[in-house]
Amino acid sequence: MPFDLVLRNARLPERGPEPVDIGVLEGRIAAIGARLGPALRSEDAQGRLVLPGFVDSHIHLDKSCILDRCTAEGALSEAIAEVARLKRDFSEDDVYARAEATLVKAILQGTMRIRTHVEIDPRIGLRSFKALKRLQRDYAWAVDLELCVFPQEGLLNDPGTEELLVEACKGGAELIGGCPYTDSDPVAHVDRIFAIAGRFDLDIDFHLDFDLDPSWMHLDAVIAATERTGWAGRVAVGHVTKLSALPPDALTAIGNRLAAAGIAVTVLPATDLFLMGRKQDHNVPRGVAPAHRLAELGVTCSLATNNVLNPFTPFGDGSLNRIANLYANVAQLGRKAEMLCCLDMVTASAARLMRCADYGIDIGKAADFVIMDATDSAYAVAEIAQPLMGFKRGIQTFERAAARLIRP
Ligand SMILES: [Zn+2]
Repeated sequence: MPFDLVLRNARLPERGPEPVDIGVLEGRIAAIGARLGPALRSEDAQGRLVLPGFVDSHIHLDKSCILDRCTAEGALSEAIAEVARLKRDFSEDDVYARAEATLVKAILQGTMRIRTHVEIDPRIGLRSFKALKRLQRDYAWAVDLELCVFPQEGLLNDPGTEELLVEACKGGAELIGGCPYTDSDPVAHVDRIFAIAGRFDLDIDFHLDFDLDPSWMHLDAVIAATERTGWAGRVAVGHVTKLSALPPDALTAIGNRLAAAGIAVTVLPATDLFLMGRKQDHNVPRGVAPAHRLAELGVTCSLATNNVLNPFTPFGDGSLNRIANLYANVAQLGRKAEMLCCLDMVTASAARLMRCADYGIDIGKAADFVIMDATDSAYAVAEIAQPLMGFKRGIQTFERAAARLIRP
């Protein structure tokens, strides 16, 4: 029986220096080897690097692309206030259209699995949630999108929010998130989120410790709740920029506690660089938590996009390879092994954080892959190589022509 698709001459670094063929049957990888047999469709990767798709473990599709409605510039609190004001006017169709624009960019950059956070509170109600549920269905052919509902503006201080969160969980939210730093009672906030997660059997993804004062941390409450509830391996925390302000010994101690508690960390360099250290007018700190050091200690870590074209991050093209490069640059990582660690944090490690069982270029796994305009993984990060073509479950989802010089 012929394969549905054979991708020929694919460079898979973990399988040695010679390119191989990848055979696909019914959306799954059926064979990997030299000169595979006949196929209904063949594509030639010409020795280029093939990755199992980028994994964006933390993005906010619902509030992307609102830059032209904004006046805020600067602090985190201003960005939250600005979006709080604007979102009263977000209609379901408006959220859908902006989220779709950002999602399409991400697909064109080779992203195939995404966890989007979705704000839920009495101002937006369930409009963003409903829009993103539609988007999830409409783009299932290209991307696995999961929705993490969360109270951006606090929970105990915002009556009506918890009821809406519960409604969203009943309506099919895949995860619940929290944002204790905006709550009047952060520790109770953490406990309420764990209680909802327990009720609906959901993984948790917190926005956490998003400043540069390491003298106190909500991480302590999250670690305690994770241990108390037996939620090890099901909790992630994003930002934790406080960790960038710790000396090495203290960071190692926290990293060991996170690894032991089974709590994963997502670092969001574009937003953290833009919002942290705003009080300083010189020697501005980077404010980016050292994910690579935590990864060395056994913490599951990812790098992710977070915001696109809004007051939290007025930049963004959806490219996770660009984010990996940005992190490497900021964290001063230039060795080959370090670049590979950065690539891992936007691919395999991010997939582990999201507990994607079906990820990787291996026989039996979903036939998700992206052909990069590169032959070497470390150089792919160093040069921000472009994705040229992508397949989701064996079906082509995008194509991008490589740039070509036209000599006189
Ligand atoms: Zn976020």
